[in-house]
Amino acid sequence: MSDHIQNAGPMLASRRCGAKTRCGGACRAPAVQGKTRCRMHGGAKGSGAPRANQNAHKHGLFSRDAIAERRQIRALLGDVRKVLEGMR
Ligand SMILES: [Zn+2]
Repeated sequence: MSDHIQNAGPMLASRRCGAKTRCGGACRAPAVQGKTRCRMHGGAKGSGAPRANQNAHKHGLFSRDAIAERRQIRALLGDVRKVLEGMR
């Protein structure tokens, strides 16, 4: 029997994919570096649409600009809420 000690800690500590699987659970494969999905769920090199691609554009609700705008509005609302709390 081998007395080799496995050091899998750093590997297991890596960011996980989290895509929904067919069973309804979350994919637990490691995410590709710099991406939020694993190689099987859209994290592979060359996958995904190029920037500013309009081929699948339907309504633009999830476009980079629309997401940034909503983020700004949320930040503004947070600031307003803080100011209103200070006025009490
Ligand atoms: Zn995955």
